[in-house]
Amino acid sequence: MFDIIIKGGTLPDGQTTDIGIKDGRITAIESLGTDAREVIDAAGDLVSPPFVDPHFHLDATQSYGTPRINASGTLLEGIALWGELKDITTEEEMIARALTYCDWAASMGLLAIRSHVDTCDDSLKGVRAMLEVREQVKDYIDLQLVAFPQDGFYRDPTARQNTLRALDMGLDVVGGIPHFERTMADGAASVRELCEIAAERGLPVDLHCDETDDPLSRHIETLACEAQRLGLQGRVNASHLTSMHSMDNYYVSKLLPLIAEAGITAVPNPLINIMIQGRHDSFPKRRGLTRVKEMQAHGITVGWGQDCVLDPWYSLGTADMLDVAFMGLHVAQMSSPEDMARCFDMVTHQNAAIMGLTDYGLHVGAHGSLVILDAANPIEALRLRAARLCVISKGRIISRSARMDADLTLPGRPDRVRRRHQSMHD
Ligand SMILES: [Zn+2]
Repeated sequence: MFDIIIKGGTLPDGQTTDIGIKDGRITAIESLGTDAREVIDAAGDLVSPPFVDPHFHLDATQSYGTPRINASGTLLEGIALWGELKDITTEEEMIARALTYCDWAASMGLLAIRSHVDTCDDSLKGVRAMLEVREQVKDYIDLQLVAFPQDGFYRDPTARQNTLRALDMGLDVVGGIPHFERTMADGAASVRELCEIAAERGLPVDLHCDETDDPLSRHIETLACEAQRLGLQGRVNASHLTSMHSMDNYYVSKLLPLIAEAGITAVPNPLINIMIQGRHDSFPKRRGLTRVKEMQAHGITVGWGQDCVLDPWYSLGTADMLDVAFMGLHVAQMSSPEDMARCFDMVTHQNAAIMGLTDYGLHVGAHGSLVILDAANPIEALRLRAARLCVISKGRIISRSARMDADLTLPGRPDRVRRRHQSMHD
């Protein structure tokens, strides 16, 4: 007897099947009966592995408007505003805000998050708060925490020692922000030392890298070199890489093979990047998203990250990775059916690979974690930012939502409308 059987759902690859879950794991993917404590009818609906966000800031989320809003909309004012906020916020407030966000994430089927945690604070209250949140949500959300010296590993006088302290306290990943150091040379040196720290401690690396419109911001080159030198292939992620949008094409033709050789993955954050970049441009205005399709064509694993929700950098957001992929699809012009389907894969399997998640996916032996969506296939899920009808984490149903149908009162027209394309033929 199974704990849960999901009947007749359509998997992202188009296969229609039943899924059996027992003791927190997927134990069967085949035609099954109804011998389970709970049977869920998913006929006509998409059954996907959970959504994954490889780039977020859980210590800042839900703080929008405190103590003021970001008037210029730039990264630099956001960093200054965050500095004001972290002086006045408490550990308890940070925990409460982050837990509320995790509730939103659970309801959206977002069950793994890599969050950067600011380590530029002598009290390290944000680090303690996020460690507490990681513990409280561990049964339903896999939370990875990055030690992130927001004000610069060298630029902030105590960032180096506080980042090492934060790693000693149990953060999972080494972070950094080379383009915010005082000079290009300091930025490159920070990349080198942060990679050495990760190599010594056996940890992954995830840097905010070249999040600028300056085409000469080339810290990704140093990161690729260090990943090779220290044998960190497969453990290094570069977030943002927006300067690549503005780089000279000849230089990029040298750079992309170096990134691929170094086994570095990339996470652009399209909601934030389209909002923040190009603010110093008149017209034409640059999009400020990195070269996604071009990296993929070189075999580089690229995901989509959310980065921010209701914080000093971004005033919107709902923990919906379909929103993130929808924006990325537009800005990167990934409009072919193959590219659109790839965008869905980026916020599921590709992001999971970037985070190094084990036992992820829809196969026998994987965690019993999945999402049932009010859509026929991944492209329709993107088009509709479809409702999450049911979210299951490690064998437990943790959220249910209604379909997005609406009642119409138009003479001569149907009294109920669905915006699913296939509904015309129902
Ligand atoms: Zn970020």
